[in-house]
Amino acid sequence: MAQTYDVIVVGSGPGGYPAAIRASQLGLKVAIVEKESLGGICLNWGCIPTKALLKSAQVFEYIKHAKDYGINVGENSADFGAVIQRSRGVANGMSKGVAFLMKKNKIDVIMGYGKVIPGKKVEVTDADGKKTEYAASKGVIIATGGRARELPNIKIDGTKIIEYRKAMSLEKQPESMLVIGSGAIGVEFAFVYASMGTKVTIVEFLPTMVPVEDEDVSKELTKQYKKMGIDIYTNSSVEKVDTSGKLCKVSVKTPDGPKTFEAEVVLSAAGVVANLENIGLEEMKIATERGKITVNEWYETNVPGYYAIGDCTPGPALAHVATAEGIICAEKIAGHKTEALDYNNIPGCTYCQPEIASVGLTEKRAREEGYDIKVGKFPFMASGKASAAGAKEGFVKVIFDAKYGEWLGAHMIGANVTEMIAEVVVARKLETTSHEILRSIHPHPTMSEAVKGATEAAYGEAIDL
Ligand SMILES: Cc1cc2nc3c(=O)[nH]c(=O)nc-3n(C[C@H](O)[C@H](O)[C@H](O)COP(=O)(O)OP(=O)(O)OC[C@H]3O[C@@H](n4cnc5c(N)ncnc54)[C@H](O)[C@@H]3O)c2cc1C
Repeated sequence: MAQTYDVIVVGSGPGGYPAAIRASQLGLKVAIVEKESLGGICLNWGCIPTKALLKSAQVFEYIKHAKDYGINVGENSADFGAVIQRSRGVANGMSKGVAFLMKKNKIDVIMGYGKVIPGKKVEVTDADGKKTEYAASKGVIIATGGRARELPNIKIDGTKIIEYRKAMSLEKQPESMLVIGSGAIGVEFAFVYASMGTKVTIVEFLPTMVPVEDEDVSKELTKQYKKMGIDIYTNSSVEKVDTSGKLCKVSVKTPDGPKTFEAEVVLSAAGVVANLENIGLEEMKIATERGKITVNEWYETNVPGYYAIGDCTPGPALAHVATAEGIICAEKIAGHKTEALDYNNIPGCTYCQPEIASVGLTEKRAREEGYDIKVGKFPFMASGKASAAGAKEGFVKVIFDAKYGEWLGAHMIGANVTEMIAEVVVARKLETTSHEILRSIHPHPTMSEAVKGATEAAYGEAIDL
């Protein structure tokens, strides 16, 4: 007879492992199935190793500009191999941390390839090809995540045309790189490589860089990236990459006509696709739509007892979204009181320099939705802390509903703004109005004063502008 658990989770990313822990906290017997490394893309090949690379790039930027702070630094250079090694070390450490958490929460880790089968069961194929069935009395949670999207005309070959995994484990720093796509992944890698001396070109299909962000943020990032020497082509598409020579010859359709670029490496950063293949969905008739598993607000699929969360379901492909979904799903399975996720209050962060953080409606979207709005902007140029830190680029922009003062959106670009956005998320959750922000003291001197400053500006009460 198959070994039985209350819950079996397939996939141990930031969706799967928190779901397993929450289910265990609620008294359920839990197993988690993982085919590769505990922690999923986020810990092993996504959020964390990229942030380690970005930190190295930031340190190098500081050293290059040390003179601006009155510090003399001798000859210096980036040791690309050591930078990559540090990032891999950070990722491995985090993955071990998940192993510890599984043990601490008495969750059985089953290494192997999981496939959902009838009867709330999971069939696991281990490294030797041996198949074992496990049963779940309460539910199976599918949390198989995603992988890099491959554009139809640009085949990823892993050497000259690469995706994010290879971009964070290259053996040698390329002299030139063409990045396809200016979403978070594309612009983060562009910053890492450009700051270490690679000549970077970004090609974006849509009219603006970081296209999901407020247009003012896109403009500011474009300005800062151009200052760094990054070439940017928006409204442009990569038509073909010829990899037959030493350098890739990249044919790009631009608004000014076709152009050809040469680059040692092409990084395809055109989004992610869900891992849906060979996990039993067709056999089980679990419904999918546009490449994602269809779920309701409690992450139930159309087949009772089977749930899905994270990047393999619709919604923003972000680690904190996967985690929130996993926790709600586990609570629902355990019969614990829970609350559906508000997809209108999800922060998005991009860790390039300057950093980007946003939540809620962009100005354009708020106007399209018919809101009468009050918009305020506080440039970091006017911030004492930013001046002292030598980080005067960027701003905080806030958008309030003129009638009730509801906080519709906030858009930030500048140093450390990814650490500032949670204030807005909490305030919006508590239905805080502009009036309360104006009356909440923000410590001086901090970058976060800019949030209050922007709110003052929205109401014509700016002190420092
Ligand atoms: C380069 C990069 C940078 C990113 N940076 C950020 C960031 O800064 N902030 C942020 O919020 N998000 C970031 N993301 C997105 C984030 O990594 C994902 O949204 C998140 O990892 C999704 O979590 P998940 O649990 O749904 O899936 P995943 O993290 O993809 O985990 C799925 C797991 O399931 C396993 N699996 C798949 N199929 C099976 C199977 N059949 N059997 C057993 N195991 C299986 C996989 O091996 C994997 O471990 C980044 C992504 C990338 C690629």
